[in-house]
This record gives sequence, C-alpha cells and structure tokens, in this order.
Amino acid sequence: MQIRCYQCHRPFALTREAVHTALDVIEEQGLSHYNVPCPHCRRVNRVSKAELHRAAPDWQPATNTPEKSE
Ligand SMILES: [Zn+2]
Repeated sequence: MQIRCYQCHRPFALTREAVHTALDVIEEQGLSHYNVPCPHCRRVNRVSKAELHRAAPDWQPATNTPEKSE
C-alpha cells in the first residue's frame, strides 16, 4: 500500500508482507492503528487498522494458537 508521510509529504510503499505483519501486531495487541516510520524522514506515521485491512483483504488473524495466555 502507498502511504504519504504527514511530515515530509513524500509517498512510500508498504509491502504486502509489512501490511500483514502490521495487522498481526494490531490483532495481537488490540491496537486501532500501526506506527510506520517514514523511510525518508523517519517520522512515525499512524496507519489505521481499516486502511491496512483494505490493503490486505486476504489477511486472516492467526487463530490456530491452541493456548490462550491470560
Ligand atoms: Zn517523511
């Protein structure tokens, strides 16, 4: 997916793999967004869960973990 940095306004791409990783982290930690550092200025950009889902509609949460850590 393409992201436009809010700080330097330069676009950069997030690979499908990176989007999947972001969604994994969001799901695991119950977040509503993911922090993506801009490769140009290193400023952290917030990408919402909805945007990530739109970029990776084939992503599925990892539900095959038998143990629940509570
Ligand atoms: Zn930037």
